[in-house]
Amino acid sequence: MARLRVLLPLPLAGAYDYRVPAGRDVPPAGSFVVVPLSGRQLYGVVWDGEADPDLPERRLRDIVEVLPVPPMTASLRRFVEWVAAYTLSPPGAVLRMAMSSPSALEPPAQKAGWRLAAAGRRAAQGQGQGEGRLTEARRRVLDAMEPGEVYTAATLAAEAGVSAGVVRGMAGAGLLEPALLPAGAEFPRPNPAHPGPTLGTEQGQVAAALREATAARAFGVTLLTGVTGSGKTEVYLEAVAECLEQGRQALVLLPEIALSTQWLERFERRFGGPPALWHSELGSRLRRDTWRAVAEGRAPVLVGARSALFLPFPDLGLIIVDEEHETAFKQEEGVIYHARDMAVVRARLAGAACVLVSATPSLETLTNAGTGRYAALHLPVRHGGASLPEVAVIDQRRTPPERGRFLSPPLVEAVRETLAAGQQAMLFLNRRGYAPLTLCRSCGHRMRCPNCTAWLVEHRVRRTLQCHHCGHAEPIPETCPECAAEGSLTPLGPGVERVQEEAALLFPDARRLVMASDTIPGPAAAAEAARAIQEREVDLIIGTQIVAKGWHFPHLTLVGVVDADLGLAGGDLRAAERTVQLLHQVAGRAGRAEAPGRVLLQSWSPEHPVLEALVSGDLDAFMEAEAESRRPGHWPPFGRLAALIVSAEDEREADRAARDLGLTAPQAEGVEVLGPAPAPLALLRGRHRRRLLLKARRDVAVQPLLREWLSRAGVPAGVRVQVDIDPVSFL
Ligand code: ADP
Ligand code: ZN
Repeated sequence: MARLRVLLPLPLAGAYDYRVPAGRDVPPAGSFVVVPLSGRQLYGVVWDGEADPDLPERRLRDIVEVLPVPPMTASLRRFVEWVAAYTLSPPGAVLRMAMSSPSALEPPAQKAGWRLAAAGRRAAQGQGQGEGRLTEARRRVLDAMEPGEVYTAATLAAEAGVSAGVVRGMAGAGLLEPALLPAGAEFPRPNPAHPGPTLGTEQGQVAAALREATAARAFGVTLLTGVTGSGKTEVYLEAVAECLEQGRQALVLLPEIALSTQWLERFERRFGGPPALWHSELGSRLRRDTWRAVAEGRAPVLVGARSALFLPFPDLGLIIVDEEHETAFKQEEGVIYHARDMAVVRARLAGAACVLVSATPSLETLTNAGTGRYAALHLPVRHGGASLPEVAVIDQRRTPPERGRFLSPPLVEAVRETLAAGQQAMLFLNRRGYAPLTLCRSCGHRMRCPNCTAWLVEHRVRRTLQCHHCGHAEPIPETCPECAAEGSLTPLGPGVERVQEEAALLFPDARRLVMASDTIPGPAAAAEAARAIQEREVDLIIGTQIVAKGWHFPHLTLVGVVDADLGLAGGDLRAAERTVQLLHQVAGRAGRAEAPGRVLLQSWSPEHPVLEALVSGDLDAFMEAEAESRRPGHWPPFGRLAALIVSAEDEREADRAARDLGLTAPQAEGVEVLGPAPAPLALLRGRHRRRLLLKARRDVAVQPLLREWLSRAGVPAGVRVQVDIDPVSFL
């Protein structure tokens, strides 16, 4: 009897061996199957390679069933293995991400419905004998029906405007006959021939190059850069059109799909219909239908969050990573991976073109373009002759805000002028809530999270203090929990809610809108906000980093950054790079149409290179300097990093395990291990955390080193060691 290997979506070391029952066909590699495992039945995938011939027959169990879904392609199987090896995760844990909708593997349930019977068709044409007796209601039902189409009784009744009883009566009279509705949801096919916008000369050239790269039907990476508002989206949609014409599937990754309503509108304008969507807020039914439609090749274009990389595209021809510099592409839990980097791998394994898009690309990607590994295309000017906004710093030391306020006089004046001119203004502060810290004025006690090394953030609208790391929330106490002083708790520093309060005092007539993750919780709220701003129902937008995302607001001409120094304080490897990217993106929201834009950055250190780069607009020079500062120490992208995060509920256990790891650290040429040290978030969700950082030269393969290290050190039960290859967060 044949044996084969089945990989299960569980964190096991590898595939398990199973037997094909006698007389049954051996399913090819990639087939989805049902197999028994310790008394349960599980879905798995027939994996490549030989089963162990020496395993005794009695230890083998039979495959129960082969599921009626297209088998997982070899390229996706190789991708699962690649990601597992790179991130040091069990392959089954990665497979789990590629089987994220188990119900999609089951044969879709077919619903019963009705279609025209022969007698009904004759009656509809006025030929039947029953013609004379056809009531007005029955007539309407027949008019609503296309021959051959199947309808549920409910939709038919609704479309014809009759009661369900009429439909039942017609079935009884033989005018309708029962039929099964087609299984699975229908997905629209975006039409590449649908006329899109007329591209400008440079746009046209770049689009042609992208089309060529896609038509090559081979792996290659292209970096598409261009100033904010230059039309990068319109241009890369041409690559999507080419991919459709090639008959292959296209995947577009967006960092915050829930905020992408404007993007979707543009997609529909270009292709006459929507793409399929994939993100965490998709309901389970739509998830199932989408997964299945992708597997069956019925969803030619899919737009999604990072997890969409693991969907079962049968013939992927193009992957676009929009805003490739975004840290949202890094998954920080479970299998820790960077979707931008894994997109390149997926494209290579699928023989697809990959396009990385950004106005402010990451140093990693710029370096790859610099060495010629990636092709590079650039759009130098804004579409429609719009100019780039003028950026200036407001030196807080010279013109500080009033006591207890956060907006300095020049910024207040600029907002006033903008509003008076009938234009829109935006105030940006990357901090949710009212105040980041609550302090007792009598004893100095600071309100902190019981589970994390973090201050509690006041959310005044909800009257709570919240931890932004673990979700802990408590009502704002009347008295200090430490010294019991009454009314002594004072908010320190601003969040967007507090800026909004100040704006309400300063500009009482302006219609204000706060855009933060708690006020814009999902796609519907984002769409409504975008509509209200576009239709000028809003004068002043106050927002966190969600306002930096790709929005196009033609009437917005002023952007004020309340605290341009904020991101620089943390001081990790990429603090400066990230601050430049974020503030340049926010600035890029201003003046995108006829009226020129203006950007004011409030800062206490205007001479900082980050602020100088933003004012001069010369980001290339800034990134070059950034590269030169990282090169000598072999910091990424000129060297490799891997973080080990050791955590345990017991503090001493965490310390001991971290110390043991430190003592057994690999010693090799070009490798250095820093730590252990308490993580900045030394306590997170009740677990004590310690960090070690392995830094290696680029030519060192860190995975084998890490694997050996971890097996040598041995991790006691109760202690968890997370491996973060190419860490983005150092918390
Ligand atoms: P970017 O992604 O580079 O910031 P977008 O693609 O968002 O730029 O383009 C900015 C705005 O200009 C969008 O509203 C877009 O629809 C519009 N636009 C860009 N190119 C064209 C064009 N060739 N014809 C019409 N509108 C365009
Ligand atoms: Zn917490």
